[in-house]
Amino acid sequence: MYDELVKLRDEGKIKYIGFSFHGTPDILKEVVKEHKWDFAQLQINYLDWDVVKAREQYDIVQAQNIPVTVMEPLRGGGLVNLSDKALAKLKEHYPNTTPAAFGLRWAASRDNVVTVLSGMSNLNQVKENIQTFIDYEEMSSEEIKVADEMAKIIQSQGEINCTACKYCMEVCPKGINIPAAFSLYNQYKVTNNKMLFTIYYDTLSEEEQPQSCIKCGLCNKNCPQNLDIPTLLTKISDEYKKIKASA
Ligand code: SF4
Ligand code: SF4
Repeated sequence: MYDELVKLRDEGKIKYIGFSFHGTPDILKEVVKEHKWDFAQLQINYLDWDVVKAREQYDIVQAQNIPVTVMEPLRGGGLVNLSDKALAKLKEHYPNTTPAAFGLRWAASRDNVVTVLSGMSNLNQVKENIQTFIDYEEMSSEEIKVADEMAKIIQSQGEINCTACKYCMEVCPKGINIPAAFSLYNQYKVTNNKMLFTIYYDTLSEEEQPQSCIKCGLCNKNCPQNLDIPTLLTKISDEYKKIKASA
């Protein structure tokens, strides 16, 4: 495949050859040594930096001097909808910034980052992201320290490390809405709002709900975050049943 890509580049049909990566650092080491790459697309944000070995992967790519394209800089929206405690930390130090601008600038401030991708779902987000990069300033070491503190706060609040990539859903024979279940559970863990947790849970159709899982394990093989999905789904549905029974 690589030879075909080089042919296309020589013909002027494409400009750059790169790859997007969700595997382990050991596999990444093989990939970067195998060929000459114009860029590597990695999942980099201030929460995943240490949690899912993003730093290790970044260092491997840096050692080969390969430019980096960042995906998931805001972790599927998880770094926009911050917990009260994490948001308070940000506002205490930088009251005029937004969580999105802070997260995007953090990702863009890594050396050798050439592009930061961001999924946007409305016009305001498009405008905010554009403005962030019109006014762009590299992050100071003080800002990076605050980001580290925010990451520690988020991790300590029991969040399930899901980026909402939906790769698991591509193979689930039951059609369970796995990222939605994890997201509503994460919000619940942060807010401890049982009523909202059950309301959001009930917005999923019966087939999409965690208790429909048959524990076949197919989803685990597709999860770039190495989550034990069936076990987590059981935990979430047990929590739901417990709250319902005590209501
Ligand atoms: S283990 Fe559950 S969630 Fe995962 S693919 Fe099977 S049915 Fe779907
Ligand atoms: S594959 Fe893993 S990270 Fe992606 S949505 Fe499913 S559980 Fe979340």
